[in-house]
Amino acid sequence: METVVIIGGGLAGHRAATTVAELCPEQRTVLIHSESGKPYDRPPLSKDFLLGAKRPTLKGSELYGDRIVFRDGTKATLIDPLRRIVHTDIGEPEHYDKLLIATGSRARRFENFNVDPAQVHYLRTESDALRLRAALAPGRRLAVVGGGFIGLEVSSVARRLGCQTTVIELAPRLLPRSASLSLSEWVATRHASEGGELRLNCANLRMSNNSKGEVILTWDGGAAVADMLLIAIGIGPNAEIAADAGIDTADGIVVNARCETSVPGIYAAGEVTNYPVPALGRRLRSESWTVAGDQALVAAQVMCGLDAQYQDLPWFWSDQCGVTLQSFGLPALATRLYRIGDIASERWLEIGTDDHGRFVSAVGVNPGRDMTQLRRDAKAGKPISPDIMSRAEEIDPSEIYLATG
Ligand SMILES: Cc1cc2nc3c(=O)[nH]c(=O)nc-3n(C[C@H](O)[C@H](O)[C@H](O)COP(=O)(O)OP(=O)(O)OC[C@H]3O[C@@H](n4cnc5c(N)ncnc54)[C@H](O)[C@@H]3O)c2cc1C
Repeated sequence: METVVIIGGGLAGHRAATTVAELCPEQRTVLIHSESGKPYDRPPLSKDFLLGAKRPTLKGSELYGDRIVFRDGTKATLIDPLRRIVHTDIGEPEHYDKLLIATGSRARRFENFNVDPAQVHYLRTESDALRLRAALAPGRRLAVVGGGFIGLEVSSVARRLGCQTTVIELAPRLLPRSASLSLSEWVATRHASEGGELRLNCANLRMSNNSKGEVILTWDGGAAVADMLLIAIGIGPNAEIAADAGIDTADGIVVNARCETSVPGIYAAGEVTNYPVPALGRRLRSESWTVAGDQALVAAQVMCGLDAQYQDLPWFWSDQCGVTLQSFGLPALATRLYRIGDIASERWLEIGTDDHGRFVSAVGVNPGRDMTQLRRDAKAGKPISPDIMSRAEEIDPSEIYLATG
């Protein structure tokens, strides 16, 4: 009997474990997971969970203990690729025939600041979210460091809970890494209309407590006062265990479309990977639920001897301020932009192409079926549908310069 070992019980590890257990019931499937308890879903942690929703479970959890050996509360510490063994901090090492690394990411830490740790929050795990939820009481002042999706989602929820929010962003606009200029501006206007304070261009941020125990934030040209901090300045891949085993890493674990790493018998999937996207002519590391789940499915199929490939364009959504934002592809690659819908409304979509008219991105607010169609066509390698293009208006190139600059 062959053994498939999976390290990491986030969405990718869970999806791979349950798929292998279904596709190859004759194999022994082992999931080593450093957190305690069954895998859960992360997106609700910055949304409904903060409002009191219950633990977001993942489908298929009933297979644990039955068809999947589930070693939760156990950290994989070392991979020995020659002997095909994974060492763990607790219990016996695991021998593998095939190994999947799905160790995901961790929240980036802010260095060199002096604030009472009880007032400082990060958001990656269920326990982070429980701690944050307990702290979001009416009237409290929350400063969010980082104007990315997670920071903005939390500030939106915090206001619903009666908190005052200030988002502090280093870049000249919100969502600097993943949105077009129009989407950044739309989001800024929306948060401001809900009473959220936004501070952009906050270089040289310093944070400390004053004698009253308040958090004082200062940056070049500005200052703010808060009762608590959420630091949401991005994530970094948990790729060290792969690098230590001699597996190629470069901003994540380098995989091919079959999720194979540079070491035979070892695969990787989810947020920890750096994977090829031929349609964009580059490799990416994506922070997206859909990428993590779909790529893990491919990894499981390949480990079970099936022919599968993952090389989709990244897509993700974000729920905040009562709307759903979506981003597909890479907005920074667009040299021509086309828009459907009124940018002042709650329903619009902006499509980006390169100079040859090839699709590279789509972002929007509640973009509905057009986004679904664009995703379907991109997956099938088809050009943008004439129906969509006939309804789209080209946007002034100066907006493109700003969006990609
Ligand atoms: C608060 C929040 C909100 C989000 N919202 C959205 C959203 O709205 N839309 C969207 O598209 N995406 C969203 N995402 C991103 C999405 O949830 C992630 O892309 C996805 O969960 C990644 O799954 P993963 O399994 O690759 O990694 P992870 O979820 O990071 O799971 C990896 C697991 O491996 C464990 N692990 C790490 N090292 C070891 C080791 N050595 N041994 C054993 N276990 C180990 C980790 O503890 C972790 O549990 C959100 C993420 C967060 C944190």
